[in-house]
Amino acid sequence: MPDKKKYAIGVDFGGTSIKFGIVSQAGKIVRKMALETKADEGPKAVIKQILKGIRELSKDEKYKISGIGVGSPGIISIKKGTVENPPNIRGWGKVHLGRIIEKETGIKTFVENDANTAALGELIFGTGKLFNSFVMVTLGTGVGGGLIFDRKLYRGETGGAGEIGHVTINMNGKRCNCGSYGCIEAYTGINYLIDDVRELLGSRKESKIYEILENDLDLLTPKIISMAAESEDEFAISVINDVGNNLGCALATVCNILDVTTIIIGGGVAGFGKRLFEAIEKTARERVLKSLAPRVRVMPAKLKNDAGIKGASALVFYKK
Ligand SMILES: [Zn+2]
Repeated sequence: MPDKKKYAIGVDFGGTSIKFGIVSQAGKIVRKMALETKADEGPKAVIKQILKGIRELSKDEKYKISGIGVGSPGIISIKKGTVENPPNIRGWGKVHLGRIIEKETGIKTFVENDANTAALGELIFGTGKLFNSFVMVTLGTGVGGGLIFDRKLYRGETGGAGEIGHVTINMNGKRCNCGSYGCIEAYTGINYLIDDVRELLGSRKESKIYEILENDLDLLTPKIISMAAESEDEFAISVINDVGNNLGCALATVCNILDVTTIIIGGGVAGFGKRLFEAIEKTARERVLKSLAPRVRVMPAKLKNDAGIKGASALVFYKK
């Protein structure tokens, strides 16, 4: 007997793998799978992989699929369902991905930028359920953001609203991937952060990080820094506090501009845990306008593993 509840297929379209899941309206993944993106083989091969995963899941008659949601990097047009120039996928250009999927599967399809789907995922299934307005920040390779106002996603003029990663925290600072200088992403994006920490470790031979890595600094990850901090390594603690202070500064600006003071943080670097959240909140409160300070709260995202699949599926359940 087919299940009468509503389900969506969420597709987390990344540069190296594509993750697929059947997600219930309550946010539970009942089936999932992953395929290689095959980015090197060009757009046709990539689209084939996307359709292969969707077909595999949608033939499961146990679940009634109400729609398909795709979270994708790049510039997305919601109306046309196009995806333009996602990084890491060679020769992509502009693809009517939504239209292709609908035509091939006969299922209504929604496509959205992955930073925005992360915010929608929290709104529909996560910490954001409790709040009407919040800023979602994803700390990963990049620092992404999404804005929810009065339970609606604010997309801006082109869908790129919430690019918090490129708030300047130091006008004479480091060069950022975007071409500007001193962006918060150039300090807290995973690759930048790991490079900085490796360099600093040169003069911090006493740090427990050496012991944990058996002196192989190539293996350094945020998780290792976190482990060292948990064993009270002073250097690791100072790294996490610095990340928190930098983010707190950038987020104070965001709170001042928007008059939104609830901040939800997810992504790999958020794994630094309580220490990071406390540092962000403390700095944001110190830096924000006094009238806003008592309202500032910084909370972890609820969706962790599979946040990408759930966020994409939230596109189907979200009432525009
Ligand atoms: Zn930048």
